[in-house]
Amino acid sequence: MSSSKPGLLIVISGPSGVGKDTVIKRLLELDPNLRYSVSYTTRAPRPGEVDGVNYHFVSREEFERLIREGAFLEFATYDANLYGTPIAELDKVRADGHDIVLKIDVQGAEQVRKRAPDALRIFLAPPSMDELVRRRTERHSESARDQAARQIIAKDEMALAPHFDHVVVNDDLERAVQEVLAIIRRARERHT
Ligand code: 5GP
Repeated sequence: MSSSKPGLLIVISGPSGVGKDTVIKRLLELDPNLRYSVSYTTRAPRPGEVDGVNYHFVSREEFERLIREGAFLEFATYDANLYGTPIAELDKVRADGHDIVLKIDVQGAEQVRKRAPDALRIFLAPPSMDELVRRRTERHSESARDQAARQIIAKDEMALAPHFDHVVVNDDLERAVQEVLAIIRRARERHT
C-alpha cells in the first residue's frame, strides 16, 4: 500500500510478564495495517524463539558495531542484555503507509519520546504485581535469578506509567486488545 502520510509509530511498553507479546500478536491478527518491528538483542534465544522473527539474535560485538553505525532508533540495557530498534526497516514500513508496533522497555520508550515525539506510546499494566509474578512463573522461560531480577525491574518500570500517552490494564486479553485498537484508530483519524 502506498500513502502520502507515513504510518504511525506505536510503542507498546510495560513490565516483563505483563503480556506484551500476546497483546501484540492479537493486534497483528486483527488489524491488517499493522506491522511488527523485530528488535536486535544480545540475549540468548528461548526455546521456540526464531532468529529474524522474535528477535535478531546477535553477539555483543555485532550489537556494538550497529550502535556505532547509528542503526538504532533507540537501544537499552535490560537485565545485562542489550536490546535495540533498527531504524531502516521502520522507516521503510512507515513510508509504505503501514503503522509499526515496537515492543520495548520503558527506557527505550523514553528515548523514542525524545527522538520521535509523534510516536503513540501505550503502557500495558498488570492488574496487580502478584499477577505479574504468576504470569512469568507460568511462562517457565526464565531462571529463578532472572525472575527475581525482572520483578525488581518491574517495580521501577511501573513508576513510569504516567509518562505514557495511554495506560491500558491487561486484565482480560481481548478487552485490553480492543482498548488498544480503539486508541490506535483514534490516533489514525487524527493523523490523516
Ligand atoms: P525479553 O527478554 O523478555 O524478550 O525482553 C526484555 C525487555 O526488553 C522487555 O521489556 C521488552 O519489551 C524489551 N525490549 C524488547 N525489544 C526491545 C528493543 O528493541 N528496545 C528496548 N529498549 N527494549 C526492548
